[in-house]
Amino acid sequence: MSYTGPDFEPPQPRRSPLRRPLTVAIAALVPGALLGWGVYAAVGGPDDDGGADRAGGARTPAASSPGVSASAGADAEAPTGTSPSATPRNPTASASASASASKPAPAAPAKGPLKGKVVVIDPGHNPGNFQHPSDINRKVNVGTHWKECDTTGTATEAGWPEAKFTLDVAHRLRTLLEAQGATVKLTQDGDRPFGPCVDERARIGNEAKADAAVSIHADGSGAGNRGFHVILPGSVHDGEADTRAIVAPSAELGERIAGNFVRATGSAPSNYVGGGTGLVTRTDLGGLNLSTVPKVFIECGNMRDDKDASLLTSNDWRQKAAQGMSEGIVSFLRG
Ligand code: ZN
Repeated sequence: MSYTGPDFEPPQPRRSPLRRPLTVAIAALVPGALLGWGVYAAVGGPDDDGGADRAGGARTPAASSPGVSASAGADAEAPTGTSPSATPRNPTASASASASASKPAPAAPAKGPLKGKVVVIDPGHNPGNFQHPSDINRKVNVGTHWKECDTTGTATEAGWPEAKFTLDVAHRLRTLLEAQGATVKLTQDGDRPFGPCVDERARIGNEAKADAAVSIHADGSGAGNRGFHVILPGSVHDGEADTRAIVAPSAELGERIAGNFVRATGSAPSNYVGGGTGLVTRTDLGGLNLSTVPKVFIECGNMRDDKDASLLTSNDWRQKAAQGMSEGIVSFLRG
């Protein structure tokens, strides 16, 4: 797959009025959210720290779509199973979207509601991964099993790579969180030839003693599969992996991000995993299994669907996506 496509900005998709009822419906579920919370079996979903992640949990080959491109590398973020439910909650924020994209990492402001809080942002994949197949195919121990160091990620049909998407959103999110006073660390900032490996991505959050960590992705599912989902760690206690202490706080983090993401972007939860909740629990992702700090993944949309791709390639939409994530994280950290 070509990853040399232009970094283009397609025509601005406008928010469909059809989405509003769904957004409102989800917001209305807020009060019952925790009641609705349960632990679901890890089932397949797309991707991960690169989609190669599929050895672990029980996965139902159910839902849909021919997924993706093994050809795109290991990251065949192919959708597979479905997952039972849970409910996004607590959308507290506004959908305002201030600007700004990438920038050199500044020192964190010394004030703001998140002063003293550490957030680790993990931009999924790395634009250079596809040039380093032997390095990223090296197996690393993720506690429960061995798996590839990292994967290439997916791309839009036009060739715009997921790794550029994730880094762009990470920069926007960093800006927003630093404005709130948080100390923000990225696991990679386009400053290394490939990786890091999924175990190192988790370790960076652990060593930073992050109060919250989020791994940013976009999926590579079949056309017609649309929407975002947040991936939560399931309970794992095996080898070096022990997520028992982070399952509950990660679920809360994920619910808050999902709820705010719906409102900020107007995007609907995934129509192919998560049973319409936008939440999926998995136990096969190294980036979650090895985390000792509250952590979730977010698949912001499906790059292989042209409607989702038009959103994902929009600067304006990516700003809203970052805004939704930021508001979810702020809400989680402020309790
Ligand atoms: Zn990914």
